[in-house]
Amino acid sequence: MKLKVLRSIAQQFSRAHNLRDGLGLMVKQVSDAIQTECCSVYLLDEEQQEHVMMATTGFNQRSVGRVRLPFPQGLIGHVVKRGEPIHVEDASQHPNYYPIADINEDKFKAFLGVPIIHQRRPLGVLAVQQQVKRKFNEGEEAFLVTISAQLAASIAHAKISGERLLQVKSTNTALSYTGVPGAPGVGIGEASVVYPPADLDSVPTRYITNIEEEVASFLSSLNAVKSQMQQLSRNVESVLSKEEQALFNAYVAILDENSLGQEVIQWIEQGLWAPAALARVIKSHVNVLESQGDDYLAERAVDILDLGRRVLSQMERGHSANRNFPSDCILIGEEITAANLAEAPPGSIRGICSLNGSQTSHVAILAKAMGIPSVFGIHNLSLNDLTGLLIIVDGYHGEVKVAPSTEMEEEYRRLAAEEDALTDDLMSLKDLPAETPDGYQIDLAVNLGLGTDVPISLDVGAQGVGLYRTEVPFMIREQFPSEDEQLEIYQSLLAKFNPQQVTMRTLDIGGDKSLPYFAIDEHNPFLGWRGIRVTLDHPELMLLQMRAMLRASAEFNNLRIMFPMITQLDELEEALSYLGQAYQEVKEECPNLEYPKVGAMIEVPVTVYLAYELALRVDFVSVGSNDLAQYLLAVDRNNARVSNLYDMLNPGVLKMLKLTVDLVHKANKPISICGEMAADPLGAVLLTAMGYDTLSMSANSVPRIKWLLRNINLSDMQAWLTWALTQTSGKVIRRQLNDELEEAGVGGLVRAGR
Ligand code: PEP
Ligand code: MG
Repeated sequence: MKLKVLRSIAQQFSRAHNLRDGLGLMVKQVSDAIQTECCSVYLLDEEQQEHVMMATTGFNQRSVGRVRLPFPQGLIGHVVKRGEPIHVEDASQHPNYYPIADINEDKFKAFLGVPIIHQRRPLGVLAVQQQVKRKFNEGEEAFLVTISAQLAASIAHAKISGERLLQVKSTNTALSYTGVPGAPGVGIGEASVVYPPADLDSVPTRYITNIEEEVASFLSSLNAVKSQMQQLSRNVESVLSKEEQALFNAYVAILDENSLGQEVIQWIEQGLWAPAALARVIKSHVNVLESQGDDYLAERAVDILDLGRRVLSQMERGHSANRNFPSDCILIGEEITAANLAEAPPGSIRGICSLNGSQTSHVAILAKAMGIPSVFGIHNLSLNDLTGLLIIVDGYHGEVKVAPSTEMEEEYRRLAAEEDALTDDLMSLKDLPAETPDGYQIDLAVNLGLGTDVPISLDVGAQGVGLYRTEVPFMIREQFPSEDEQLEIYQSLLAKFNPQQVTMRTLDIGGDKSLPYFAIDEHNPFLGWRGIRVTLDHPELMLLQMRAMLRASAEFNNLRIMFPMITQLDELEEALSYLGQAYQEVKEECPNLEYPKVGAMIEVPVTVYLAYELALRVDFVSVGSNDLAQYLLAVDRNNARVSNLYDMLNPGVLKMLKLTVDLVHKANKPISICGEMAADPLGAVLLTAMGYDTLSMSANSVPRIKWLLRNINLSDMQAWLTWALTQTSGKVIRRQLNDELEEAGVGGLVRAGR
């Protein structure tokens, strides 16, 4: 029962038009659920240092928004200060009692207040009160604690965005949001909000001026869905009973432009764009039906939602067909996908800002490969009302500025121009080695996967391909590519890079990389069937891919093959044995084929301790720091909520990386690193100091890292590493090394500008 109420509260809250309505619904439901005379929510106005009453059932509704308590006055302030529930049978006896005179608060005796806390920050208090002395029981207290924890994130989100957008509109000051840096650089452009299809909860608020056109487009979608429903009804006429058919007719009636449609049109006439108008109307009907506590009506709510989604999806078809992207656009959305990047005209995306994801999610890697500044994991940015606003994305600091002032915009434009000039200048290093002033050389290689990154990769002066992610061609097809299809792709790559070596990784699916035609449904995909585990279970896929790679290499013999996600040496032995088999087969057709160099990836922590034994069995080792760090830190690389913990400079991670290099070198084998850490300037200097032989990164990063290494002595990097390994905090290491780079004249790599 409680669970049902909790779910219903959360649902209704998420569907409310605004924070006040949401809280209003919530206090009503809480009062009913625990049979109390008064339930109120107070939120902290940080600027004024006051608690504001945002919703109540026991006091006059005119108090809402008006009653303000200076912080930390009264029991409300006491709850926030203590950060825990405060429960008193008779409030008047409590030393912190300070009744609010304007609303005759002293009529209430019993008091239970629970703090609302989001990400360690107090937001306010949820309080229940009763006129007679009363002890709320433990179950009731737990109920309030659960509601408060459950709604805290949504309240924080709504509160901040509501306040801030008002602030933008009234004062013209920019809003600043901080997330995690994705791809470096500064991007300036107009917001283009991306939201998941047919999702009524994600439709952003936008305003339109051409009301007639908007109404016409809405009616045409409405009528299209109406016809679909009529058609569906006819299709199933023979198998449905009269009652069931009546349901279809009811749907058609709901869709009538004089019923639900009329309400939507009224919103459009007030200037709201049709998808948001539709979402409002549908959600408010659904809320009413769901709050009746009647199963039959709850079922009807599901029907209305379904109809709403159909109409929305129909409208979106029209909108996406003629969706206009601004010529300089910043893609903003809950979750930006690779498909979103592909949708915008080439060259128009200046920046990416995704509420979810983290610096090594695959879309972040894609953004980096495309050289698009990006920021991930911004929790408190509301997507409503952003369309058309000017946005600045600072991919160095993980910052996003909304509606900047003219001065701020000019400053960032100047920094962006400096960056472009730096990028152009750095191309002059193309034919020079990555050699430190004190004469130490290291190889830089490129990471590939997109196809579009090949031309630039050929031109940046790298030593071949350190990682070719073969899964991308698998991801964009409708079935596994045939041996000949793969052959063609691999051959073209090997030919383009010849005589440089190209390191191809065998298929690495699972985790967050899925194939549309090969579902892997797991609770814990990153700990499940992924990488070599999948291909060893499907030797036919592995052998086919190996054959295609080997046939492709027959002409130039510049192929290297490596295996991802090795956990135990047996897996490596098995994979090597399949490679031997594939080689024998292909050698018969292609007598010139040489045995390729073979490598193993270190991505699973246990293989760090097996690195010596592993290295003895292969020609080279490559560290996948994206996954290695994810498993070492127990932090999902895509999860924005814990992205602050995903820190490559955590001294523990540095120690593991150093141990890996030492063990592989003890076996006299070369070691490279192909995770994103190699492209982070601070990562690059520490990895070089550790002795990594090759740093492999997206092509855009190569000139920058080359510039970095050509400006810093190995002896300095080694001193920094020795110091870093004695530290206990990644933050301290980052701060100190940033200063060192600034002093060395290469600060332009860790902040905007030159
Ligand atoms: C890694 O894990 O560091 C790596 C290079 O592989 P991917 O990012 O493709 O998982
Ligand atoms: Mg990996």
